[in-house]
Order: sequence, then structure tokens, then C-alpha cells
Amino acid sequence: MDRYVVFGNPIGHSKSPLIHRLFAEQTAQQLEYSALLAPLDDFTAFARAFFQLGRGANVTVPFKEEAYRLADSLTPRAQRAGAVNTLSKLADGSVQGDNTDGAGLVRDLTVNAQVSLAGKRILLLGAGGAARGVLEPLLAEEPSSLVIANRTVEKAELLAELFSDLGPVSASGFTWLAEPVDLIINATSASLAGDLPPIKASLIQAGHTVCYDMMYGKELTPFCAWASELGAARVLDGLGMLAEQAAEAFFIWRGVRPDTAPVLAELRRLLAAR
Ligand code: NDP
Repeated sequence: MDRYVVFGNPIGHSKSPLIHRLFAEQTAQQLEYSALLAPLDDFTAFARAFFQLGRGANVTVPFKEEAYRLADSLTPRAQRAGAVNTLSKLADGSVQGDNTDGAGLVRDLTVNAQVSLAGKRILLLGAGGAARGVLEPLLAEEPSSLVIANRTVEKAELLAELFSDLGPVSASGFTWLAEPVDLIINATSASLAGDLPPIKASLIQAGHTVCYDMMYGKELTPFCAWASELGAARVLDGLGMLAEQAAEAFFIWRGVRPDTAPVLAELRRLLAAR
């Protein structure tokens, strides 16, 4: 049986085994997918040992940058992202690194939520790994502007510079912006601590601005609750991105694209029942 895993630390919370089991059932693929707790001090040796027999791996916090360094080759989008969330064993035995997070976000926004990004003013909150991973696919949709706002402004400036050849991207502090935008994407981990980036309410035009939090939970995240109170046109969380980045990885490994809708519905049901 072809073997796949997700590496992380901690890993107990991971929904990836369930998602890939549902994808495999739906597409009648014979495979095994499990969660592996990788050691914080020796990820590379651990992952290499897995690939003696394993076919592919997803990589989550905190190993995405180590996976980038471990890969024998990188896809162009992983190269740009500076991080890898999908490793695949190629026919010659080498391990290729890819990054499906950005494609997952864009597909969730444009296909699942039917939010078009072309010509739109986008504000991306955060300048960590998740923000970097989504910049290339967001810019490929040709927004009219993409502003990266971050608590540590220098990190936003660095990202804006790194991606400036791909489109109209600039950097900002959270509190410097006041004009309404079309889409706000929260790629900070502030919601994890119950926090909200200190951005101005005037950025949201009631009934127009779409707000997306990469985080998700049983209840609305602090960012989604705030956007909802201000009358955002749509308030979306990151569960769809999770399902879509997994579907993209499944497609890379198996050559079959699963239908994410029933899987997402099951994830939503389980989250609500928790
Ligand atoms: P990183 O640790 O790489 O980056 C964290 C970012 O959040 C930085 O920009 C940091 O700012 C900012 N930040 C942290 N705390 C606060 C705060 N209290 N107020 C304002 N800004 C804050 O994390 P990742 O980029 O890997 O992940 C970010 C989020 O995206 C996480 O919540 C993660 O769960 C989610 N995610 C969801 C995915 C999905 O499939 N739905 C996929 C990947 C990520 P600074 O630079 O100043 O420290």
C-alpha cells in the first residue's frame, strides 16, 4: 500500500489523515495516510528515513522551512514561497518539495466562495510563512493592489520587495491604513491568542468588503467576529483553504483531483459537533 504522512510537532490536532482518507475513499485510491510526530531537533533524518519506503508527506508547523531545505528539488512556487508543505518521492528516488497553501487559498476564494480577485484592492495581514506562501498565487490573479501589513513592518517590507516583480505589492503597518479595501485576508496567528491585528474599522466597507481568516474554529475567530460586526459582505474562515491545499497535494501524488465539497461539509459538521 502506498504510504503518506503528515509531519508536525505537535500533530495530534491534524485533520489531514481524515481529509486524505475521505479523498482516497471518494476516488477509490489505495493508500495509507497517517500523522507522524517528528522530533524538533532532527526533522531531516526523520523525514529521510520515512522516504525509504514512503511516497509522500505533508508538512506542517514548525517544519515547512526545514522541508524546503531537505528537498532535493523544488517546484517554482515552493521556491518563491521559501517553504514546503508537500513532499513527493519522484521516480528516480529523489524528494521534490512543493507548496500548495497558496493555491488552496486562491481556489477556496475564487471557486468555493466565488470571490473574484482581478482588479481588487487586497489587504494581507501578516508577513510570516503563510503570508509568503500565498503572495505569488494572489498576485497571479491580478489584483489592482496588494498591501502587506504586519506588526513588524520590516518583515512586510522585505516580502513586498521579494515579490515586487510579480505585481503591485507594497508594505504597511497595521494602523497606517484607513481607506476601504475589497478583500482583507488575515494571515497572522493573532487569532490563536484570541487577538485581533489593530487595523482601522474604516478598512471595511459595509456590504462590500470580503474578510477571510486563515484560522478556523468552532466559533467565529476574533477577526471574523470583528468583520461580521462591521457588516462585511462575506466572512470566511480557513477551513476551505485547509481542504483545498490537501486536495492539491492529493492531486500531485495521485493524479486525481478529489471533490472537496463533501469533505469540507464533513469537516464543518465535525467542527460544529466538537
Ligand atoms: P508565522 O509564525 O510564520 O507568522 C505569524 C504572523 O502573525 C507574523 O506576521 C506575526 O507578526 C503575526 N502575529 C502573531 N501574533 C500577532 C498578534 N498578536 N498581533 C498581530 N500580529 C501577530 O505563522 P504562519 O504564517 O505559519 O501562520 C499564520 C496563520 O495562518 C496561523 O494562524 C495558521 O494556523 C494559519 N494557516 C492556515 C492554513 C490553512 O490551511 N487554513 C495554512 C497555513 C497557515 P510579526 O512578524 O510581527 O511577529
